[in-house]
Amino acid sequence: MQELLDLIGLESDLRSATTALCRAVERERPTVVGALHVTCSDEAEWETAAVFQRDFVERLLPSLKLGQKAAFRSVNLGSRYESGACRVMVHHFALAEPKHIELDLLHTYVVKINSHVGILETADGPVFGQFLRFGHPSACCGALAAAIAGNRSFSSFPDTPAFADIAESLADIPDHAAAYVRQNVAESLRMLYFAVLHAQRQALAATRELERAVAELKDARVSCYVVAGVAVNRPGPDSEIVVSVTRFDKPPGGLPSQPEMRGLGLDPRRYHATFDLSRLRITG
Ligand SMILES: [Zn+2]
Repeated sequence: MQELLDLIGLESDLRSATTALCRAVERERPTVVGALHVTCSDEAEWETAAVFQRDFVERLLPSLKLGQKAAFRSVNLGSRYESGACRVMVHHFALAEPKHIELDLLHTYVVKINSHVGILETADGPVFGQFLRFGHPSACCGALAAAIAGNRSFSSFPDTPAFADIAESLADIPDHAAAYVRQNVAESLRMLYFAVLHAQRQALAATRELERAVAELKDARVSCYVVAGVAVNRPGPDSEIVVSVTRFDKPPGGLPSQPEMRGLGLDPRRYHATFDLSRLRITG
């Protein structure tokens, strides 16, 4: 678990967070593991999904069919947590509980939410929010950019509900955080800050539902992890910044413990971004 917490705010290769999460779960020797992975529909997010499949799903999840393992996945415009997803995910993977073992069963449920942001290296330094797509600079995450621009950047899709959902979710963050970022953060960092806020906001929504979902597993001992990350889409291999890690447990016959969220937080006035050998470190 400490290995995972140490990654908060530190841009690392895509395997780091998933491997640290896998090790933390493995150490608890769970009987059943279930997982939900939330990513954006953007084709640039294939690397993030592939690494989670290879380094977490293939190692820890039960086989759905002979030789085939899969997470419950939510792939949508802007990596939005879809209400109900945790409940259905827990319902599905709880069915994998082995019936021949009666003592000390542990169910572990993992939710990984990835927002994403492109990075463009320019003569003036890195610019977040743009990705060289098929040789052309392109908004990335486009859905997040459209939500923040009030749909203007996708004017041919003015009524896309996903963009309105994202804008509403960001506006709901205390102390007018979204307005602060829009007005006070350098344009080169603005989309990074929005991606950090968005991932944590979605993780909060997922945590609330995961608590309710595992409370329904009355007799089970349960361990839960909700990890929010920002994937950084680069011309080379993508990278990832863990922005929050939330943990809670549930004893058999009891209620879930109070979730403990560690991360950069939802106050962008506290964020400080620096570059060390072109890798980003953000503190909160
Ligand atoms: Zn996107």
